[in-house]
Amino acid sequence: VKIGVIGAGQLGRMLGLAGYPLGLTFRFWDLTQDSPAFPLGENMVGAYDDSEALERFASGLDLVTYEFENVPVSTAENLAARLPVWPPPAALAVSQDRLSERTCFAKLGIPNPPYIGVNSKDELEDAVRTIGLPAVLKTRRLGYDGKGQQLLTTAADLAAATVSVPSILEGFVSFSRELSIIAVRSTAGETHFYPLAENHHGDGILRWSIAPAPGLRLELEAMARDYATRVLDAFGYAGAFTIELFETGSGLIANEMAPRVHNSGHWTIEGSPVSQFENHLRAILGWPLGPTERPEPAGLINLLGTLPDLRWVLSQPDVHLHLYGKQSRPGRKLGHLTVTGHPGEDMKSRLAELLASLNST
Ligand code: AMP
Repeated sequence: VKIGVIGAGQLGRMLGLAGYPLGLTFRFWDLTQDSPAFPLGENMVGAYDDSEALERFASGLDLVTYEFENVPVSTAENLAARLPVWPPPAALAVSQDRLSERTCFAKLGIPNPPYIGVNSKDELEDAVRTIGLPAVLKTRRLGYDGKGQQLLTTAADLAAATVSVPSILEGFVSFSRELSIIAVRSTAGETHFYPLAENHHGDGILRWSIAPAPGLRLELEAMARDYATRVLDAFGYAGAFTIELFETGSGLIANEMAPRVHNSGHWTIEGSPVSQFENHLRAILGWPLGPTERPEPAGLINLLGTLPDLRWVLSQPDVHLHLYGKQSRPGRKLGHLTVTGHPGEDMKSRLAELLASLNST
C-alpha cells in the first residue's frame, strides 16, 4: 500500500517510521528539499497549489493523508475527487479558521470562551465592550504556537492593538491547566482514545506533557471523549484527531482542534501499546486499531532550539530520544524525549528533575 502524505515535517517522519514495520510505503510532498520525513519514502518538492505537482503526487497512490493544517483545502478536495483522503477535507477547512472552529464547537454543544469575529479596530472595540478584558486577539488563519496572538489586559493594550484581517477576539479563559485529548477513529468506525495529556507551554510552544493528566476527574475524561466524539461524528471522520482543552472550575473549555496526529501525543511512541502514528495509519486504512492505554504514566519533553548533551540523555533510564534531523534555530522543534514511568510513579517530579538537568547540560 502506498500512502501519500502532504507535508514532510517531524509528524510525517514519525508516520513514516510507524508505517515501515507494517509494510507501508510513502510519498511525501513538501516545499523544501531537506524535509524531516524525506528519508522515509519517495520525495516530492513543489508548491501545494500547483496542479502539475498535484498530478505527480497523486499518481500511483492508494490513499492520501496530511500532517499539517495549512494544506490548501482545494488541494485536499481535488485529491479527494480521485483518491480516499483522510481526515476529511471538511475537517481540515474548519481547523484552518479559528472562527469556523469556534462556530463548529458551538453548534456541537462543545463549550467555548465568548468569541466574536473582528475585522477592524472599531469592531475590536465593540467586541471588547461585549466580551470585556482580559481577552485574546487572534488572527483567524495561519496562527499556531501562539503566533498571531495579542493578550489584551488593559485599555492601553486595546489602544495599542493592531487588527489583522480577519481576526477573532476571545474571552481570556482563567484555566487551572491545559489538556488535550487524542482520539482515533477508523474508516470502519472503530474509535479509541488516548488518556488525556496535561500540557505545559512556554511562549506559546509546547514544552512538556504528562499522560494520563494527574488527578483528572473521571467525569472530565468522559466529557472530553464526548466532545471529541461529537466532532468525529459530525465530519464522518477517520484518522487521528486532537482537541486542546482548558480545565476550569466549571469543566472543560475547548481551545482548538487538529485533524491530525499531535505534538502532545508524541509520548505514545513508547508510552502506549500502539502509538498515535501507527493508529492513525491503521485508521485511514480501515484496519483494526491497537490499544491506547497502559497502566504506567508517560512524559514528553520537546527539544527546542538547541540540543542538550545527547550522551547524557542516552544514559538516562526510561528516556527515549527522538531527533527530527533538523538544523538548530531558536525555538525550533528539533526532537523530543519520551519518558516512560512505573505504575504509580510521580511523572511530574520525574520530568521536573530531567528538565532541570537538561537546562544545565
Ligand atoms: P493557541 O495558538 O490558540 O493554541 O494558543 C496558544 C496558547 O495561548 C494556549 O496554549 C494558551 O496557553 C493561550 N491561550 C489561547 N487562547 C486563550 C484564551 N482564550 N484564554 C486564555 N489563554 C489562551
